[in-house]
Amino acid sequence: MSSKRDYYEILQIEKTATSEHIKKAYRKLAIKYHPDKNPGDKEAEEKFKEAAEAYEVLSDDQKRARYDQFGHAGMGGAGGFGGAGGGMNMEDIFSHFGDIFGGGFGGGFGGQSRGPRRMKGSDLRIRVKLNLEEMVNGTEKKVKVKRFKQADGVTSKTCPSCGGSGQQVRVTNTFLGQMQTATTCSTCQGVGKVADKIPPGANNQGLIKVEETIDLKIPAGAREGIQLQVRGKGNDAPFDGIPGDLLVIIEEEEHDTLKRDGNNLHFDLYVSVPDAILGTSKEIPTVNGKVKIKIDKGTQSGKVLRLKGQGLPDLNGYGKGDLFVHVNIWTPTNLSKEQEAYFEKMRDDDHFSPEPSKNEKSFFERVKDMFQ
Ligand SMILES: [Zn+2]
Repeated sequence: MSSKRDYYEILQIEKTATSEHIKKAYRKLAIKYHPDKNPGDKEAEEKFKEAAEAYEVLSDDQKRARYDQFGHAGMGGAGGFGGAGGGMNMEDIFSHFGDIFGGGFGGGFGGQSRGPRRMKGSDLRIRVKLNLEEMVNGTEKKVKVKRFKQADGVTSKTCPSCGGSGQQVRVTNTFLGQMQTATTCSTCQGVGKVADKIPPGANNQGLIKVEETIDLKIPAGAREGIQLQVRGKGNDAPFDGIPGDLLVIIEEEEHDTLKRDGNNLHFDLYVSVPDAILGTSKEIPTVNGKVKIKIDKGTQSGKVLRLKGQGLPDLNGYGKGDLFVHVNIWTPTNLSKEQEAYFEKMRDDDHFSPEPSKNEKSFFERVKDMFQ
Protein backbone atom coordinates (compact mmCIF):
# COMPACT_ATOMS: atom_id res chain seq x y z
CA MET A 1 0.00 0.00 0.00
CA SER A 2 2.73 2.43 0.94
CA SER A 3 4.47 1.94 -2.38
CA LYS A 4 1.45 3.21 -4.30
CA ARG A 5 2.05 6.31 -6.36
CA ASP A 6 -0.13 9.37 -6.15
CA TYR A 7 -2.92 9.25 -8.74
CA TYR A 8 -2.34 12.85 -9.83
CA GLU A 9 1.35 12.11 -10.25
CA ILE A 10 0.58 9.03 -12.34
CA LEU A 11 -1.60 11.01 -14.74
CA GLN A 12 0.83 13.96 -14.58
CA ILE A 13 -1.87 16.46 -13.76
CA GLU A 14 -2.52 19.16 -11.18
CA LYS A 15 -4.77 18.56 -8.17
CA THR A 16 -7.14 21.09 -9.68
CA ALA A 17 -7.40 19.33 -13.04
CA THR A 18 -10.84 19.36 -14.65
CA SER A 19 -12.52 16.17 -15.76
CA GLU A 20 -11.61 17.07 -19.35
CA HIS A 21 -7.91 17.29 -18.37
CA ILE A 22 -8.11 13.99 -16.56
CA LYS A 23 -9.65 12.29 -19.56
CA LYS A 24 -7.05 13.74 -21.90
CA ALA A 25 -4.14 12.78 -19.67
CA TYR A 26 -5.43 9.24 -19.33
CA ARG A 27 -6.08 8.86 -23.05
CA LYS A 28 -2.47 9.86 -23.74
CA LEU A 29 -1.06 7.30 -21.31
CA ALA A 30 -3.48 4.55 -22.35
CA ILE A 31 -2.34 4.90 -25.95
CA LYS A 32 1.33 5.04 -24.98
CA TYR A 33 1.23 1.95 -22.74
CA HIS A 34 -1.46 -0.05 -24.51
CA PRO A 35 -0.55 -3.77 -24.60
CA ASP A 36 -1.08 -3.93 -28.34
CA LYS A 37 1.68 -1.37 -28.77
CA ASN A 38 4.00 -2.92 -26.21
CA PRO A 39 3.66 -6.69 -26.61
CA GLY A 40 5.35 -8.61 -23.82
CA ASP A 41 6.50 -5.47 -22.03
CA LYS A 42 5.67 -6.05 -18.36
CA GLU A 43 6.57 -2.55 -17.30
CA ALA A 44 4.30 -0.98 -19.91
CA GLU A 45 1.52 -3.26 -18.76
CA GLU A 46 1.99 -2.14 -15.16
CA LYS A 47 1.97 1.50 -16.24
CA PHE A 48 -1.15 0.84 -18.28
CA LYS A 49 -2.93 -0.65 -15.29
CA GLU A 50 -1.69 2.06 -12.95
CA ALA A 51 -3.04 4.78 -15.23
CA ALA A 52 -6.37 2.99 -15.55
CA GLU A 53 -6.69 2.75 -11.78
CA ALA A 54 -5.84 6.43 -11.34
CA TYR A 55 -8.38 7.32 -13.99
CA GLU A 56 -11.04 5.13 -12.44
CA VAL A 57 -10.79 7.06 -9.19
CA LEU A 58 -10.19 10.59 -10.44
CA SER A 59 -12.89 10.47 -13.11
CA ASP A 60 -15.52 9.70 -10.46
CA ASP A 61 -16.37 12.81 -8.43
CA GLN A 62 -17.22 10.86 -5.31
CA LYS A 63 -14.17 8.63 -5.42
CA ARG A 64 -11.98 11.60 -6.24
CA ALA A 65 -13.28 13.58 -3.24
CA ARG A 66 -12.63 10.61 -0.99
CA TYR A 67 -9.15 10.15 -2.43
CA ASP A 68 -8.37 13.86 -1.98
CA GLN A 69 -9.38 13.61 1.65
CA PHE A 70 -7.99 10.26 2.68
CA GLY A 71 -5.50 9.25 0.01
CA HIS A 72 -5.12 5.60 -0.88
CA ALA A 73 -6.41 4.52 2.52
CA GLY A 74 -9.74 6.13 1.72
CA MET A 75 -10.06 3.88 -1.27
CA GLY A 76 -10.31 0.96 1.11
CA GLY A 77 -6.94 -0.52 0.36
CA ALA A 78 -6.25 -1.38 3.99
CA GLY A 79 -7.20 -4.39 5.98
CA GLY A 80 -7.96 -6.82 3.27
CA PHE A 81 -10.29 -4.69 1.19
CA GLY A 82 -9.69 -4.68 -2.50
CA GLY A 83 -10.59 -1.06 -2.95
CA ALA A 84 -10.22 0.62 -6.27
CA GLY A 85 -6.55 -0.07 -5.84
CA GLY A 86 -7.01 -3.77 -5.34
CA GLY A 87 -5.67 -4.26 -8.84
CA MET A 88 -7.94 -3.82 -11.82
CA ASN A 89 -8.04 -6.55 -14.34
CA MET A 90 -7.83 -5.95 -18.04
CA GLU A 91 -11.55 -6.61 -18.47
CA ASP A 92 -12.33 -3.71 -16.12
CA ILE A 93 -9.95 -1.45 -17.94
CA PHE A 94 -11.23 -2.18 -21.42
CA SER A 95 -14.80 -1.83 -20.23
CA HIS A 96 -14.05 1.84 -19.62
CA PHE A 97 -12.63 2.49 -23.02
CA GLY A 98 -16.00 3.12 -24.54
CA ASP A 99 -16.30 6.38 -22.60
CA ILE A 100 -12.79 7.48 -23.38
CA PHE A 101 -12.28 6.62 -26.97
CA GLY A 102 -15.83 6.34 -28.16
CA GLY A 103 -17.30 3.20 -29.61
CA GLY A 104 -14.70 3.00 -32.34
CA PHE A 105 -11.85 2.24 -30.01
CA GLY A 106 -11.64 -1.46 -30.73
CA GLY A 107 -10.98 -0.90 -34.39
CA GLY A 108 -8.27 1.62 -33.63
CA PHE A 109 -5.96 -0.87 -32.02
CA GLY A 110 -4.79 -3.78 -34.07
CA GLY A 111 -8.25 -4.41 -35.43
CA GLN A 112 -9.44 -5.82 -32.11
CA SER A 113 -13.18 -6.13 -32.30
CA ARG A 114 -15.30 -5.21 -29.33
CA GLY A 115 -17.31 -8.36 -29.66
CA PRO A 116 -19.69 -9.47 -26.97
CA ARG A 117 -19.06 -7.83 -23.65
CA ARG A 118 -18.89 -9.38 -20.24
CA MET A 119 -21.65 -8.09 -18.02
CA LYS A 120 -20.84 -6.57 -14.68
CA GLY A 121 -23.09 -7.31 -11.73
CA SER A 122 -24.42 -4.38 -9.77
CA ASP A 123 -22.84 -3.18 -6.54
CA LEU A 124 -24.55 -3.67 -3.22
CA ARG A 125 -24.43 -1.21 -0.36
CA ILE A 126 -24.68 -1.87 3.34
CA ARG A 127 -24.19 0.28 6.41
CA VAL A 128 -22.17 -0.90 9.37
CA LYS A 129 -22.23 0.83 12.73
CA LEU A 130 -18.97 1.00 14.68
CA ASN A 131 -18.29 2.15 18.21
CA LEU A 132 -15.21 4.13 19.15
CA GLU A 133 -13.29 1.06 20.32
CA GLU A 134 -13.85 -0.62 16.95
CA MET A 135 -12.82 2.48 15.03
CA VAL A 136 -9.60 2.78 17.00
CA ASN A 137 -8.61 -0.87 17.02
CA GLY A 138 -10.16 -2.15 13.81
CA THR A 139 -12.58 -5.05 13.96
CA GLU A 140 -14.08 -8.01 12.18
CA LYS A 141 -17.80 -8.23 11.51
CA LYS A 142 -20.07 -10.77 9.97
CA VAL A 143 -22.79 -9.24 7.86
CA LYS A 144 -25.71 -10.88 6.09
CA VAL A 145 -26.15 -9.78 2.50
CA LYS A 146 -28.87 -10.75 0.04
CA ARG A 147 -27.23 -10.99 -3.35
CA PHE A 148 -27.91 -12.43 -6.77
CA LYS A 149 -25.77 -15.47 -7.34
CA GLN A 150 -25.39 -17.69 -10.37
CA ALA A 151 -27.60 -20.67 -9.73
CA ASP A 152 -25.98 -24.10 -9.74
CA GLY A 153 -26.61 -25.96 -12.95
CA VAL A 154 -27.44 -23.00 -15.12
CA THR A 155 -26.26 -23.41 -18.70
CA SER A 156 -26.12 -20.94 -21.52
CA LYS A 157 -26.32 -21.01 -25.27
CA THR A 158 -25.37 -18.60 -28.03
CA CYS A 159 -27.88 -15.79 -28.36
CA PRO A 160 -30.20 -16.62 -31.26
CA SER A 161 -30.83 -12.94 -32.07
CA CYS A 162 -27.23 -11.83 -32.60
CA GLY A 163 -25.44 -15.12 -33.11
CA GLY A 164 -23.13 -14.38 -30.17
CA SER A 165 -21.72 -11.06 -31.36
CA GLY A 166 -23.71 -9.08 -28.81
CA GLN A 167 -24.68 -6.62 -31.48
CA GLN A 168 -27.52 -6.30 -33.89
CA VAL A 169 -26.68 -4.75 -37.20
CA ARG A 170 -29.48 -3.02 -38.94
CA VAL A 171 -29.18 -2.21 -42.61
CA THR A 172 -31.27 0.63 -43.92
CA ASN A 173 -31.57 1.84 -47.47
CA THR A 174 -31.10 5.54 -47.89
CA PHE A 175 -30.68 7.64 -50.98
CA LEU A 176 -26.90 7.56 -50.26
CA GLY A 177 -26.92 3.80 -50.38
CA GLN A 178 -27.05 1.20 -47.66
CA MET A 179 -26.26 2.31 -44.10
CA GLN A 180 -25.32 -0.03 -41.34
CA THR A 181 -25.98 0.75 -37.71
CA ALA A 182 -24.90 -1.53 -34.89
CA THR A 183 -26.78 -1.54 -31.61
CA THR A 184 -26.45 -3.64 -28.50
CA CYS A 185 -28.49 -6.80 -28.87
CA SER A 186 -31.72 -6.38 -26.96
CA THR A 187 -32.18 -10.10 -26.37
CA CYS A 188 -28.87 -10.70 -24.55
CA GLN A 189 -27.94 -7.10 -23.60
CA GLY A 190 -24.70 -7.47 -25.50
CA VAL A 191 -23.46 -10.57 -23.72
CA GLY A 192 -23.86 -12.85 -26.73
CA LYS A 193 -25.35 -15.63 -24.62
CA VAL A 194 -28.73 -16.43 -23.16
CA ALA A 195 -29.70 -18.94 -20.51
CA ASP A 196 -30.43 -22.43 -21.76
CA LYS A 197 -31.23 -24.56 -18.75
CA ILE A 198 -32.52 -22.57 -15.80
CA PRO A 199 -32.79 -24.32 -12.45
CA PRO A 200 -35.98 -23.74 -10.48
CA GLY A 201 -36.01 -20.52 -8.49
CA ALA A 202 -33.56 -18.71 -10.76
CA ASN A 203 -34.56 -15.78 -12.96
CA ASN A 204 -34.29 -15.84 -16.74
CA GLN A 205 -30.61 -14.89 -16.54
CA GLY A 206 -29.90 -17.86 -14.31
CA LEU A 207 -29.47 -15.79 -11.18
CA ILE A 208 -30.94 -16.67 -7.83
CA LYS A 209 -31.23 -14.51 -4.72
CA VAL A 210 -29.37 -15.93 -1.75
CA GLU A 211 -28.48 -14.69 1.70
CA GLU A 212 -24.78 -14.93 2.40
CA THR A 213 -22.75 -14.20 5.49
CA ILE A 214 -19.71 -12.15 4.63
CA ASP A 215 -16.72 -11.59 6.89
CA LEU A 216 -15.64 -7.98 6.96
CA LYS A 217 -12.21 -6.95 8.14
CA ILE A 218 -12.49 -3.31 9.10
CA PRO A 219 -9.13 -1.57 9.42
CA ALA A 220 -8.22 0.59 12.40
CA GLY A 221 -9.04 4.23 11.76
CA ALA A 222 -12.31 3.67 9.88
CA ARG A 223 -14.93 6.29 10.69
CA GLU A 224 -18.21 7.92 9.72
CA GLY A 225 -18.71 8.22 5.98
CA ILE A 226 -15.78 6.02 4.91
CA GLN A 227 -16.70 3.50 2.27
CA LEU A 228 -14.95 0.16 2.09
CA GLN A 229 -15.13 -2.03 -0.96
CA VAL A 230 -15.29 -5.81 -0.89
CA ARG A 231 -14.55 -6.98 -4.38
CA GLY A 232 -16.86 -9.45 -6.03
CA LYS A 233 -19.40 -9.60 -3.20
CA GLY A 234 -22.07 -7.56 -4.97
CA ASN A 235 -24.51 -9.18 -7.37
CA ASP A 236 -23.17 -11.81 -9.72
CA ALA A 237 -23.46 -11.07 -13.41
CA PRO A 238 -25.01 -13.71 -15.65
CA PHE A 239 -22.88 -16.10 -17.69
CA ASP A 240 -19.45 -15.70 -16.11
CA GLY A 241 -19.62 -11.92 -16.07
CA ILE A 242 -17.80 -9.86 -13.50
CA PRO A 243 -19.51 -9.80 -10.11
CA GLY A 244 -20.27 -6.39 -8.61
CA ASP A 245 -18.76 -5.19 -5.36
CA LEU A 246 -20.11 -4.89 -1.86
CA LEU A 247 -19.74 -1.32 -0.61
CA VAL A 248 -19.65 -0.96 3.15
CA ILE A 249 -20.51 2.47 4.49
CA ILE A 250 -19.29 3.14 7.99
CA GLU A 251 -21.53 4.79 10.54
CA GLU A 252 -20.40 5.95 13.90
CA GLU A 253 -21.96 5.22 17.27
CA GLU A 254 -21.53 8.09 19.69
CA HIS A 255 -19.45 7.43 22.77
CA ASP A 256 -20.88 8.30 26.19
CA THR A 257 -18.07 10.55 27.30
CA LEU A 258 -15.49 10.89 24.53
CA LYS A 259 -16.14 13.17 21.59
CA ARG A 260 -14.28 12.63 18.33
CA ASP A 261 -12.93 15.45 16.18
CA GLY A 262 -10.95 14.06 13.26
CA ASN A 263 -8.24 11.87 14.76
CA ASN A 264 -8.48 13.57 18.15
CA LEU A 265 -10.71 12.83 21.10
CA HIS A 266 -11.98 15.24 23.74
CA PHE A 267 -13.04 14.62 27.31
CA ASP A 268 -14.61 17.08 29.76
CA LEU A 269 -13.18 16.56 33.24
CA TYR A 270 -14.85 18.19 36.24
CA VAL A 271 -12.81 18.76 39.39
CA SER A 272 -13.95 20.18 42.71
CA VAL A 273 -12.72 23.51 44.05
CA PRO A 274 -10.59 21.82 46.77
CA ASP A 275 -9.06 19.42 44.20
CA ALA A 276 -8.20 22.35 41.93
CA ILE A 277 -6.65 24.24 44.83
CA LEU A 278 -4.77 21.35 46.43
CA GLY A 279 -4.05 19.13 43.44
CA THR A 280 -5.10 15.49 42.99
CA SER A 281 -5.07 12.64 40.51
CA LYS A 282 -8.01 11.55 38.34
CA GLU A 283 -8.88 8.56 36.19
CA ILE A 284 -9.66 9.39 32.57
CA PRO A 285 -11.54 6.97 30.32
CA THR A 286 -9.66 6.25 27.11
CA VAL A 287 -10.72 3.96 24.30
CA ASN A 288 -8.56 1.17 25.65
CA GLY A 289 -9.17 1.45 29.39
CA LYS A 290 -8.58 4.06 32.05
CA VAL A 291 -5.51 6.25 32.47
CA LYS A 292 -4.54 8.12 35.65
CA ILE A 293 -3.56 11.75 35.25
CA LYS A 294 -2.20 14.29 37.74
CA ILE A 295 -4.06 17.50 38.43
CA ASP A 296 -1.47 20.00 39.63
CA LYS A 297 -1.92 22.13 42.69
CA GLY A 298 -3.54 25.40 41.60
CA THR A 299 -4.95 24.09 38.31
CA GLN A 300 -7.09 26.69 36.55
CA SER A 301 -10.45 26.01 34.99
CA GLY A 302 -10.16 25.61 31.23
CA LYS A 303 -6.73 24.02 31.34
CA VAL A 304 -6.26 21.44 28.59
CA LEU A 305 -4.17 18.33 29.18
CA ARG A 306 -3.03 16.29 26.23
CA LEU A 307 -2.68 12.50 26.28
CA LYS A 308 -0.52 11.81 23.29
CA GLY A 309 -1.44 8.95 20.99
CA GLN A 310 -4.74 8.17 22.74
CA GLY A 311 -6.81 9.27 19.74
CA LEU A 312 -7.59 7.43 16.51
CA PRO A 313 -4.98 6.09 14.12
CA ASP A 314 -4.64 8.23 11.02
CA LEU A 315 -6.14 6.64 7.94
CA ASN A 316 -3.12 7.53 5.87
CA GLY A 317 -0.76 6.06 8.42
CA TYR A 318 0.48 9.37 9.78
CA GLY A 319 0.54 8.30 13.43
CA LYS A 320 -2.26 8.69 15.91
CA GLY A 321 -4.42 11.48 17.24
CA ASP A 322 -4.43 12.63 20.87
CA LEU A 323 -6.92 12.73 23.70
CA PHE A 324 -7.48 16.23 25.09
CA VAL A 325 -8.72 16.51 28.65
CA HIS A 326 -10.53 19.79 29.30
CA VAL A 327 -10.47 20.72 32.97
CA ASN A 328 -13.62 22.36 34.34
CA ILE A 329 -13.77 23.46 37.95
CA TRP A 330 -17.07 22.57 39.54
CA THR A 331 -18.56 25.37 41.62
CA PRO A 332 -20.75 24.00 44.41
CA THR A 333 -24.29 25.38 44.66
CA ASN A 334 -25.54 23.65 47.80
CA LEU A 335 -23.20 24.75 50.58
CA SER A 336 -24.24 24.84 54.23
CA LYS A 337 -24.42 28.13 56.13
CA GLU A 338 -21.05 27.34 57.77
CA GLN A 339 -19.39 26.67 54.47
CA GLU A 340 -20.79 29.82 52.96
CA ALA A 341 -19.54 31.75 55.99
CA TYR A 342 -16.08 30.31 55.34
CA PHE A 343 -16.02 31.60 51.79
CA GLU A 344 -17.56 34.88 52.90
CA LYS A 345 -14.36 35.43 54.90
CA MET A 346 -12.29 34.69 51.79
CA ARG A 347 -14.17 37.13 49.62
CA ASP A 348 -11.83 40.03 50.31
CA ASP A 349 -8.74 37.87 50.70
CA ASP A 350 -6.14 38.82 48.10
CA HIS A 351 -5.28 35.15 47.51
CA PHE A 352 -8.70 34.61 45.98
CA SER A 353 -8.70 37.53 43.57
CA PRO A 354 -8.13 36.48 39.96
CA GLU A 355 -4.90 37.61 38.33
CA PRO A 356 -5.11 36.03 34.90
CA SER A 357 -2.52 38.33 33.32
CA LYS A 358 0.37 36.87 35.32
CA ASN A 359 0.81 33.32 34.17
CA GLU A 360 -2.53 32.11 32.93
CA LYS A 361 -2.91 31.70 29.18
CA SER A 362 -6.07 32.96 27.57
CA PHE A 363 -8.53 30.58 26.03
CA PHE A 364 -7.28 31.49 22.56
CA GLU A 365 -3.67 30.85 23.46
CA ARG A 366 -4.59 27.45 24.82
CA VAL A 367 -6.41 26.55 21.63
CA LYS A 368 -3.37 27.64 19.66
CA ASP A 369 -1.11 25.47 21.82
CA MET A 370 -3.34 22.46 21.29
CA PHE A 371 -2.74 22.45 17.60
CA GLN A 372 0.99 22.83 17.69
ZN1 LIG B 1 -27.80 -11.29 -28.52
